[in-house]
This record gives sequence, structure tokens and C-alpha cells, in this order.
Amino acid sequence: MSGLDQIVKKLTEDTMLADDELAAILETNECDNTLAEAADGKRREIYGTDVYIRGLIEFTNHCKNNCYYCGIRRDNAQLSRYRLSGGEILSCCDTGYELGFRTFVMQGGEDPFYDDDEMCKIIHTIKDKYPDCALTLSIGEKSYKSYKMYFDAGADRYLLRHETADSGHYRQLHPQSMSLENRKECLMNLKSIGFQTGSGFMVGSPYQKTEYLIDDLRFLRELEPEMIGIGPYITHQNTPFKDFKSGSLELTLRLISIIRLMFPYALIPATTALGSIAPNGRELGLKAGANVVMPNLSPVTVRKQYSLYDNKICTGEEAAECRGCLENRVKNAGFQIVVARGDVKKCSVTLT
Ligand code: SF4
Repeated sequence: MSGLDQIVKKLTEDTMLADDELAAILETNECDNTLAEAADGKRREIYGTDVYIRGLIEFTNHCKNNCYYCGIRRDNAQLSRYRLSGGEILSCCDTGYELGFRTFVMQGGEDPFYDDDEMCKIIHTIKDKYPDCALTLSIGEKSYKSYKMYFDAGADRYLLRHETADSGHYRQLHPQSMSLENRKECLMNLKSIGFQTGSGFMVGSPYQKTEYLIDDLRFLRELEPEMIGIGPYITHQNTPFKDFKSGSLELTLRLISIIRLMFPYALIPATTALGSIAPNGRELGLKAGANVVMPNLSPVTVRKQYSLYDNKICTGEEAAECRGCLENRVKNAGFQIVVARGDVKKCSVTLT
């Protein structure tokens, strides 16, 4: 057995590696197939061939922040902005429920228009009508009090990617008004409140180094999130990073496999960004260890305006078309979509 194969075996058995071992498998493509096979096996042990679907509702593209990589950042004056009303959001859930979705994800920029009372009103309305569904929020950094209000109103899960766990790199990606300390504190607060918490990072973001990726994996180990979302960084023309190259499919898939082996229980999406850099990116993501897909339930009229990065896919299809298309893609990859909330099966493994 080669040295690299031994490292993959060790990761599969122990769910952890030393920094130099992680660097060795991150910096080569030689063990990508072995990694993907091991990750696929680990996912099958815990989740079988089930793939969970999350109905994504991109309800506002207003944001008070100015992250250098993001297409809906505050200073992008080229973008036409929109907000969905509570009624419009509920109508997306109605469509989604009919199509078999049992998780709705409300995602938006950090938009003060939706204050805590408004958010809680929307959460209550959705959970009253669909008590058998999970509701996930992805609306950025808030105070402990706000998070607690959303949780008490019935929200089940919260996604907040840390993006990079290196403070110097965080500063290169975000303006002074934002800090890694606050991002981490938000994530710890979400966990302590009881949310199923999701974090993750961009792969191939400007200035990223292998050592930062190792820091990302170490931070995830500390946080132990139920959901881990990673996707390639993709350049947006109306951002300060317009001249940087996008991240690679290869490294993203490698990291999905490594993350599956480190966190066997985790809910890991094959992201839209992955499908945007390669036509079969999401299928490859599933084969590399992912077990979640997130079709879009937002009204087609606003889809193009939720422009996080250039050439984003799935901006023209109705919800039913997206659902049907993904059903086929998942089947072709050897898995099947299930109608279920798709909660984490965390108790079935012990982390070392
Ligand atoms: S990444 Fe999030 S917080 Fe940053 S500008 Fe974009 S939507 Fe706003």
C-alpha cells in the first residue's frame, strides 16, 4: 500500500490526521479515487443511498455587508434588488410541499428590513402550516437574542459558513466592519441554542493556501456542525475580486471526500456552485460523499437577481423542473431522492 493510501486508510478509520498528512492528500490528485471510494462507503454505512432535498427560497438580495467576493454585496450598484413578502415566501413553501420537500431554506443577504419580529412572524406562519417540515435559516450574523427568538419561533436549522478560519485570510476576503471572531461567536451561539448548525467555506478563494484549508478542517472539528457546505469560489464580475480565478472542481471534490471521512454523520450538499463550474458537478459531488441537494424554490422572476457569482445555473427553471432535473441527476449518480426532513444521524458514530 502506498504512503498516500495509508493516509486515506488512517483517515477512514480514525476520522482525523496530522497536519502534514492532511497537506499530503490535499496537495495531490493521486489519491482522489481512493478518497472518493472511502467517502462513498462511509456515507452508505450511515445514510445508505438516500439523498435529501432542501427547497431553497432566496427571499432577499439586499445586504448591508460588502464581502469582496460576493455578487450581492452592498456596493454592487449594477444589481436590481428585490424582497419577497411573507405571503410570497409561503407560496414557495406551498409549491415545495406539493413537490415533496420537507425542508425549506430561507436564504438572504443581511437585510435589516426583515427585523426579528418580521422574521418570527414568517417562521411561525411556515411552521404552523407545515409542522412536519424543517425550516432552515441562512441570513447571516445576528445577536444571540435574535437567534434565540428565531429558534423559539420554530426554526430548526441555521447555515452560516465561516468561509475561512484564518484571521488574516478572513481580513483579505472581508472589510474591516466584519471579523472572524464575531463569525465564530455566532456559530457557537447557534450551537448552544440548539440549532442544527451548518458551516463551511469556499474552495479556491483568493489568497487561499493549504494551511488555511487545514485550519478550516480543524475549526470544523471544534464546532462539529451538523451540516457542512463547501463549494468552489466563483468569480463575480461586479466585485473587487473580478480578476481572480475561480476555484477548481477537483479540489472541491477532494475536500468533500475528506470532510465525509472526518465527519461521517454530516449532511453535506452537492452545491449549486459545484454544478455551475461543471455540468455534472453535483453528480460528482454526490459520488465524492455528499448527500444533500438544494433545488431552487424561489420565483423564477427573481432568480437571476440572486447573483452571488457569474454563470449561476438553475436561474430559468420553475421549481418543478428543478426538482425533476435533480431527481434524474441523483438517480444517474446511483442514489435516490427521499421525501423526508432529512435530519442529521449524529448518534451513529463516535468521533475520535
Ligand atoms: S456573502 Fe453574505 S454577508 Fe457577504 S455580502 Fe454576500 S450576502 Fe452579504
